[in-house]
Amino acid sequence: MSLYDRFEQAFMPNYGVPPIALARGEGTRVWDVDGRAYLDFIGGIAVTSLGHAHPALVEAVSTQVATLAHTSNLFLHEPEVLLAEKLLELLKVPGRVFFANSGTEANEAALKLAIKYGKRHGRTYFVAAENGFHGRTIGALALTGKKAIRDQFGPFPVDVRFVPYGDADALKEAVTGECAAVFLEPTQGEAGVVPPPDGYLAAAREICDASGALLVADEIQSAIGRTGHWFAHQADGVTPDILTLAKGLGGGLPIGACVGFGDAGTLFDKGDHGSTFGGNPVSCAAALAVLANVDLGHVRTVAARLREGLEAIGHPLLKGVRGRGLWLGAVLAEPRSAQVQKAAADAGFLVNALQPDAVRIAPPLVVTAQEIDAFVGAFPQILTEAAK
Ligand code: PLP
Repeated sequence: MSLYDRFEQAFMPNYGVPPIALARGEGTRVWDVDGRAYLDFIGGIAVTSLGHAHPALVEAVSTQVATLAHTSNLFLHEPEVLLAEKLLELLKVPGRVFFANSGTEANEAALKLAIKYGKRHGRTYFVAAENGFHGRTIGALALTGKKAIRDQFGPFPVDVRFVPYGDADALKEAVTGECAAVFLEPTQGEAGVVPPPDGYLAAAREICDASGALLVADEIQSAIGRTGHWFAHQADGVTPDILTLAKGLGGGLPIGACVGFGDAGTLFDKGDHGSTFGGNPVSCAAALAVLANVDLGHVRTVAARLREGLEAIGHPLLKGVRGRGLWLGAVLAEPRSAQVQKAAADAGFLVNALQPDAVRIAPPLVVTAQEIDAFVGAFPQILTEAAK
C-alpha cells in the first residue's frame, strides 16, 4: 500500500490526502519519497525561515536536545530567558513574553489577556476582521472571520464583531467604549496575502487609543523577517498592545509567543495561564538560531528581485502580485490556483493554492537570487499549463 493510502486509512479526513510526501530537505530544496527534487517556495507555510536543515538550526537543536530537552514550567531554563530577551530587544519596546507551542495557542493567550482586561474595565466584546484567520481552537476560531471554518463550531463563548478588513471607518464605528480588544493581522495571510491600505494599522492604533480598547497584532505569519522587517507592524510605525508570533520563529520547531507591551504585559496573575511544553528548551534553541541567522538585508534584496520578476511577467492568467517581502500572493484572472499549484509541482516548484484565485509564494528567507530566477523563469510556462 502506498504512503498516501496508508495516510488516508490512518488519519482523520480533516486534511484530505496531501499530494506530495516529502522525505528530506536542504536549504530551499526538498526531495519527495521517490527522490524527486523541488524548490520549496512555500516553506512549510512561511515557517522554515532558514530553509531546511540549516547548519545553525541543526547544531542548536541537536546540542539542546542532547543537553536538556524539557523542563516544564516548574523550572526555568536559560534558552527561554535568552529568547524572551532577544525578542524584546528586536521589538525595541518594553514588554513581557509568554511562550506557547503554536499560533493558535499564542492567540488563546492574547484572548485571555483581552478577556481579563475587559472584565477589569467593563468591556464586553471584541472586534476582528472579516476573512481574518487566527487559528482553530475555540477562542482563536471565535476571532476568525472565515465563515466556512467558523460558523459550524459556534456559538462561541466570546462576543466577536467582524468588520471589513482595511476599512478604518467601519473599524471606528465598531469600536466603542465597551470593546475590550481589536484583533488584526497587519496583512491578512490566509485570506490571500492581502495587505490593507496604507495607514490602516496606524488608524487602528488611533481608534483603540481613543476608545481604550487593546490592539492585538496577529503576526503569526508576518513576523520574523518575512516582510523584510523583524515584525510587520514596525514598518507601519505602530506598536500594538499585544503581539502574537509563531510560524517562522522556530524555523520548523513548534513555538508560539504572546508579547504584552506596557500594562498589557502584566495582566496575567500567577496561575492565570500556562503550558507544559510552551517555550521548551529545544524550540527556544531553534528560535535563537533563527533570530541569529535571519538576514533582513538579504530578504529585502531577494524579495525585490522576486516581486520585480513576477510583475514583469505578462501572462493572461496573472492579474497581479500583492503582499510584502518574501510573502506574496500571485493573483489570478481566473480561479485556477489548484491548477497552478499542480503545474508548479510538475515543474519542480512548491507553491500553495491559497484561495481559488490566489497562489501563495513564501520561500525560506535564505532563498538565493539564482533560485528566485529559476522560479520566475519557470512561472510563465506554469501559468500556461494551469490555464489549459
Ligand atoms: N494566525 C495567523 C495569522 C495564521 O496565519 C495562522 C496559521 O496560518 C494562525 C494564527 C494559526 O497558527 P497555528 O497553525 O500555528 O496554530
